[in-house]
Amino acid sequence: MFKKILIANRGEIALRIQRACKEMGIKAVMVYSEADREAKYVKLADEAVCIGPAPSAQSYLNMPAIIATAEVTDAEAIHPGYGFLSENADFAERVEKSGFKFIGPTPESIRTMGDKVSAKQAMIRAGVPCVPGSEGELPDDAAQIKRIAKTVGYPVIIKAAGGGGGRGMRVVHTEAALVNAVAMTKAEAGAAFGNPAVYMEKFLQNPRHIEIQILADQHRNAVYLGERDCSMQRRHQKVIEEAPAPGIARKLIERIGERCAAACKKIGYRGAGTFEFLYENGEFYFIEMNTRVQVEHPVTEWISGIDIVKTQIQVAYGEKLPFTQRQIVLKGHAIEVRINAEDPYKFTPSPGRISLWHAPGGPGVRVDSHVYTNYFVPPNYDSMIGKIIVYGDTREQALARMRTALSETVVEGISTNIPLHRDLMVDAKFVQGGTNIHYLEEWLKTHKR
Ligand code: ADP
Repeated sequence: MFKKILIANRGEIALRIQRACKEMGIKAVMVYSEADREAKYVKLADEAVCIGPAPSAQSYLNMPAIIATAEVTDAEAIHPGYGFLSENADFAERVEKSGFKFIGPTPESIRTMGDKVSAKQAMIRAGVPCVPGSEGELPDDAAQIKRIAKTVGYPVIIKAAGGGGGRGMRVVHTEAALVNAVAMTKAEAGAAFGNPAVYMEKFLQNPRHIEIQILADQHRNAVYLGERDCSMQRRHQKVIEEAPAPGIARKLIERIGERCAAACKKIGYRGAGTFEFLYENGEFYFIEMNTRVQVEHPVTEWISGIDIVKTQIQVAYGEKLPFTQRQIVLKGHAIEVRINAEDPYKFTPSPGRISLWHAPGGPGVRVDSHVYTNYFVPPNYDSMIGKIIVYGDTREQALARMRTALSETVVEGISTNIPLHRDLMVDAKFVQGGTNIHYLEEWLKTHKR
């Protein structure tokens, strides 16, 4: 096994990966920005190196500084976490060319999946069902664009090939608005992602967001660990995730899960990955693949008993997956809420010093967070400061445990979205299960404080 791994990330995921390393007897090197000097995982690290000032461009996205740190600390591999450089094919390539293992898929896989147009094409070839839409990138010609939209059928959604994080999308309801919407999305995509290519999909009216977690090794073994329901979203960003998805027949999950595992074998995928689908009227439609560990991975870890981060490290080292599909047994129900430093109803960021942090505990409660009393939440990064994950034999028990956990949680000094989560955990429709991707936005409109 590796003796030393460099963790090229920050926040709760940096701590999560560090914990996996410690459990495996691997030394962890942390890189950090000046804003994260006081972070717990920096103090707990075997080695820690400051790689630049607070802005990500000069620290967590600074490839030469990260690779140079791996060199001077004699790390053998680099774990990119999520966000930052985790889905940057050039980074993966530079890591491997510099003689280190990238803990993730090959640069080629990242490149194919990072472009949503080429990802969709690869999935169609691998037999994974996709949202109906344009065959690849949209042309410039207005008449042609209109013709494509007519075939797909309104409403349509224009999406950036290089988009991510819920950005670079525009819904179009009428032909009159179409050409202008395409031009605007193209301009935004060019500015935000450095790639103006856009494509068109049918805009599904009331789908749920269901995703399949997969794990694969370099020996062409691939398994799926069931699904997660991430339909509780605001601005296309996930707020609550759970596994399994309420009310979807196991047979349907097994069928789509097998397709995903087969697609991994076909494209020579290795590492952890997620196939994201929209689910409507009993059908799955692929929207994109994430080639990294995800924020919501703990709900799957809990119902499967499999440590996803540890498995990422094992397969990156070249080991075979330590289990077969038949050995994977999913049991119980897990729910995760994302704790964000923000106003719970206006959603304005709320960085600053946490004067009191009291995390919940007890049976079936897991808290993944790097913060503590007196921690300063820097304004420079994503507002997520941690996650509360609960497990129950049933969904009802998991919900009850989440309500208890949220009632115990105390965060003072900054605002968080905990009050929102407390309200949602007693909302009749959410408690019933199976809400669609628009539910939370609609709910927020009628529950303004
Ligand atoms: P990103 O990479 O930015 O997360 P995705 O393609 O995964 O973009 O889409 C994010 C979210 O946007 C989905 O979970 C869903 O809520 C919405 N969405 C994307 N495509 C469609 C579509 N064709 N119809 C309806 N909603 C969509």
